[in-house]
Amino acid sequence: MPYIDLHTHTTASDGTLSPSELVSQAYSLGLRAVAITDHDTMEGVEEALEQARKIEIEVIPGVEISVDFAKEMHILGYFPDPYAPLMERTLEDLRQYRMERNPQIVAKLNSLGFDITLEEIKQIAGGSIVGRPHIAKVLLDKGYVESIKEAFAEYLALGKPAYVKKEKLTPEAAIEAIAASGGLPVLAHPKYLEMTEEELDGLVCRLVKAGLKGIEVYYSTHSLEETEQYWGLAKKYQLLLTGGSDFHGSSKSEISLGKGTGTLRIDEELLVKLKEQMIGGRTGFSQYLNE
Ligand code: AMP
Ligand code: ZN
Ligand code: FE
Ligand code: FE
Repeated sequence: MPYIDLHTHTTASDGTLSPSELVSQAYSLGLRAVAITDHDTMEGVEEALEQARKIEIEVIPGVEISVDFAKEMHILGYFPDPYAPLMERTLEDLRQYRMERNPQIVAKLNSLGFDITLEEIKQIAGGSIVGRPHIAKVLLDKGYVESIKEAFAEYLALGKPAYVKKEKLTPEAAIEAIAASGGLPVLAHPKYLEMTEEELDGLVCRLVKAGLKGIEVYYSTHSLEETEQYWGLAKKYQLLLTGGSDFHGSSKSEISLGKGTGTLRIDEELLVKLKEQMIGGRTGFSQYLNE
């Protein structure tokens, strides 16, 4: 049975493999397709597509946008055109929000007595998406904490002394940006919303009205019960089902590409359905694929 992975991160955000390394690894694991869904950027997509042209594997252009909500809500977008005006502006705004926040985090860390600069953090990040995981990595490398987890738990997480709120899009705005750019907006890992079944049903209903097209049913840390619950929601609201590992390379070493924590298997059939839903199969970024 051919398997795929529709949720991965590269060095373009906070993953540790470059886009081409990730695509090569997916190929050597026997995956049929892999989606690149970096946080708030599509900068890794070109390189991944380039690598996919050299080997027998399909790359799906994607993005994962963090949106404003009580808990961690992420909206995945598949096949949006990064050069569509609204998507270009949205991605630029998201970069800007980080550029406003990050120096404030550094200032807080400095006042806590840590010798850390924005330059060091940017160097670790490599790309234009600089986030808290990179700040945590610098704290780790300098011996201020013993793990990334500790950096968040002691300093960077909500309510901790170096936390600074980042401006975010509303869920509706992220959905609109993806849809208006020819992409399919999908609710990522519903588990992290920490909602009751009733609350989640209400939320999905709200997001469907805004244009949500799918829900990430299969995910590394979803239990069987959760998977069944999200499957039920997908059926109730006639949403596409997606699935992925959320692979980040060695910065989340417990998650393997394609396999998640070991047992994840995402059937290629889900991607077939995704493509069928794309208007004529040639909207958004997909139009660049065959040219
Ligand atoms: P940012 O978008 O820069 O605010 O960073 C958010 C990212 O940090 C999330 O996508 C997670 O990958 C990571 N993160 C958030 N909370 C934690 C935590 N408690 N421990 C480890 N990583 C975290
Ligand atoms: Zn991440
Ligand atoms: Fe996420
Ligand atoms: Fe992710």
